[in-house]
Amino acid sequence: MITARQLVKTYPGPDGSTIRALGPLDLQVAAGEFVCIVGPSGCGKSTLLRLIAGLDQPTSGSLEVGASQPVLVFQGDSTFPWLTVHDNVEYPLKLRGWSEPERESAVSRQLALVGLSDFAEAYPYQLSGGMKQRVALARAWVSDPQVLLMDEPFGALDEQTRVVLQNELLKLWERPQRAESPTQRKTILFVTHAIDEALALADRVLVMSSAPGRIVHELRVPFARPRDPIQLKRDPRFGELAYALWQALKP
Ligand code: ADP
Repeated sequence: MITARQLVKTYPGPDGSTIRALGPLDLQVAAGEFVCIVGPSGCGKSTLLRLIAGLDQPTSGSLEVGASQPVLVFQGDSTFPWLTVHDNVEYPLKLRGWSEPERESAVSRQLALVGLSDFAEAYPYQLSGGMKQRVALARAWVSDPQVLLMDEPFGALDEQTRVVLQNELLKLWERPQRAESPTQRKTILFVTHAIDEALALADRVLVMSSAPGRIVHELRVPFARPRDPIQLKRDPRFGELAYALWQALKP
């Protein structure tokens, strides 16, 4: 679904210098795969997601994305404060020109899936951090994209809320629901700085190095699905895998 070869992104630096934000990076993500990327701050994780989302162009190398319009969920609170919960979730459907009846049915279904039906008319300032992230999740999910790119979506949440949201994301994803291919799960590329989060969510964890940002380690996560992020921590393999990732992250 996503193939990058020798992908490089540079930016002009001060005094005519060049800042290499990413690469050369090789990456392959299969359709329906859930891949987490961990790596030190500044190694180019956001840059990679922006390139895949088409918000930025690579400086060199090749990038193929086998789906139209991947959806990117940004870090932190990405809700629109001037729109209600309903209108936040409806927004991408308006952009895509969906009719009103189609929008209404998709939005109410999606709000029910993330447990926000009773808050449809609330504004983001009336919601907790976890609820705002649920709105962001619903807004990303509602247009049924094949590819979802998530940039530390739960990074600003407290530990307990983070685990609840991980659980909800897994429930959404593990239950295949794409209209045109009901057996196919979405392809998710999820950036996180939290090793336990990567192990709870991913089929495969990729570790990126800093300067130059490239993939230096890959780990297949053996846990069966459906997963429960809390129960997983009791699995004796969890500690071993977390340790292996810490080792790979060592500077
Ligand atoms: P990460 O998401 O891993 O923290 P980023 O992708 O945000 O890393 O940034 C990678 C590197 O590229 C950093 O050194 C950052 O300062 C630099 N960078 C990112 N965007 C720009 C930009 N628009 N102009 C100049 N440098 C940038």
